[in-house]
Amino acid sequence: MVTRLVLVLGDQLSTDIAALREADKSDVVVMAEVMDEASYVRHHPKKIAFLFAAMRKFADRLRDDGWQVAYSRLDDDNNSQSIPGELLRRADEYDAKEVLATEPGEWRLISALEDMPIPVHQFQDTRFIASHKEFEDWADGRKQLRMEYFYRDMRRKTGLLMDGDKPEGGKWNYDHDNRKPAPDEVDFGGPMQFTPDNTVEQVLDLVEARFGNSFGDLRPFWFATDQGQARRQLTHFIKNALPKFGDFQDAMMNDNRFLYHGLISFYLNAGLLDPLEVCRAAEEAYQAGDAPINAVEGFIRQIIGWREYIRGIYFLEGPDYPRRNALNHQRGLPDFYWGAETRMNCIAKAVQQTREEAYAHHIQRLMVTGNFALLAGVNPTEVHEWYLAVYADAYEWVEAPNTVGMSQFADGGIVASKPYVSSGAYINKMSDYCKSCHYSVSAKTGEKACPFNLLYWNFLNRHRDRFEGNPRMAQMYRTWDRMDKDRRDTVLAEGDAFLDRLSKGELV
Ligand SMILES: Cc1cc2nc3c(=O)[nH]c(=O)nc-3n(C[C@H](O)[C@H](O)[C@H](O)COP(=O)(O)OP(=O)(O)OC[C@H]3O[C@@H](n4cnc5c(N)ncnc54)[C@H](O)[C@@H]3O)c2cc1C
Ligand code: SF4
Repeated sequence: MVTRLVLVLGDQLSTDIAALREADKSDVVVMAEVMDEASYVRHHPKKIAFLFAAMRKFADRLRDDGWQVAYSRLDDDNNSQSIPGELLRRADEYDAKEVLATEPGEWRLISALEDMPIPVHQFQDTRFIASHKEFEDWADGRKQLRMEYFYRDMRRKTGLLMDGDKPEGGKWNYDHDNRKPAPDEVDFGGPMQFTPDNTVEQVLDLVEARFGNSFGDLRPFWFATDQGQARRQLTHFIKNALPKFGDFQDAMMNDNRFLYHGLISFYLNAGLLDPLEVCRAAEEAYQAGDAPINAVEGFIRQIIGWREYIRGIYFLEGPDYPRRNALNHQRGLPDFYWGAETRMNCIAKAVQQTREEAYAHHIQRLMVTGNFALLAGVNPTEVHEWYLAVYADAYEWVEAPNTVGMSQFADGGIVASKPYVSSGAYINKMSDYCKSCHYSVSAKTGEKACPFNLLYWNFLNRHRDRFEGNPRMAQMYRTWDRMDKDRRDTVLAEGDAFLDRLSKGELV
């Protein structure tokens, strides 16, 4: 009988993954820790440790289930340090003539597999609710690809929160009831933290030795690294945080990094949790009367709506998408994204948390670090590489459309109908950051003026030709035009001066 290799990548850690379903136990499962994947951007050490530890445990689980697993550790002598290299080495070793794979979530790897000198069958990744074909059919002929309509189709398809063919409670979207400012107190203690066992400790030592100089704290390490632990985190979240998830989804706090968020994207994206399993658990909490509709609908929308839509865009738009730069922004990423000092408290807090946890929640990514990069005109490719490196849940299929599209408007408006820019007022409304900042959020000009205030108008003025005609931005331009001319000149001059200081690497 001909032996086949079954490739299982680090973010495909599910026994239900397509390639394993196509295989049988006479085949050899190939898993490999390789430098090519660990270093094509400077990944956060926690992210590398999470994946290597979860891979090692998953390999053990497969062996326990009777699979033959050829596992390459990063420091194995004969490791070729690339996925194609390891497949070829194993093909030689086992005299295998073909490879079964699940389509990777990155164009780079898809084409590397296509270019292999032995046949590689790439099966569609069935962990997602919408197939490529379904998304393409949905997108076909539409002028605008708005997530909301796609989401409704996913609700119908899954039956989640449906009452026959009507949405549960009568509305598709309960966001109107969400998005309250930061609360005075948070009665949730954050995600479940798991003490490293021997496998994790070994990986931590390896990662410390090999990647210890990269941006990001490796220890304390608390992530779940197997399906059982990830499920415990899911249950913990559903029981204790989901009821308030909607209310405080967009809030940010100096002293609370996690608020009522799920902290499950690492696990979902690596295959330790299944999106439908997660959504059904949330729906059950609603049906049992344990969580309100606004929270549950909002949460489910993030997963079967945003997450699926974002993936659809990545595959629809093609390999050049992460390099797009519709606004022609060319500034280098400021050093404070890598931890250099800044007086902007919101940025300092988001970056500090990113360094320590390899995590920031959506609004920190979108309206603090993303907002600043867009306002300051940072090159979106540099922004993309930063997000891809520093977050433990970052893989190109999900990170690039969020960064390049939603956050930086570099796709010219495919994901976002208008740029996500705001002055300091939004950050002040949703957080307590401004209270302890060097800058004054109420100052629009002058030495203490919040940089977001200065750059907001600067950005709108710079891109007037492109955005003036956008109905969702008309009000902003009217406000700007109503300002007296001297004031407008001062705001623009001070914004330019700020950007100049930023270019020179001065402390801002
Ligand atoms: C600039 C930028 C970059 C991002 N990069 C990533 C990334 O690399 N990987 C990633 O998984 N998410 C990314 N996101 C989306 C979102 O910020 C994270 O999914 C979320 O913060 C994960 O934390 P959580 O599990 O606590 O999420 P929760 O707030 O609890 O939300 C629940 C789940 O919904 C899903 N979700 C919510 N919003 C999105 C979204 N916009 N796109 C995809 N899934 C979503 C996630 O799976 C998440 O776990 C990015 C957002 C922005 C603005
Ligand atoms: S004042 Fe401006 S820079 Fe300071 S925390 Fe608020 S928004 Fe950020």
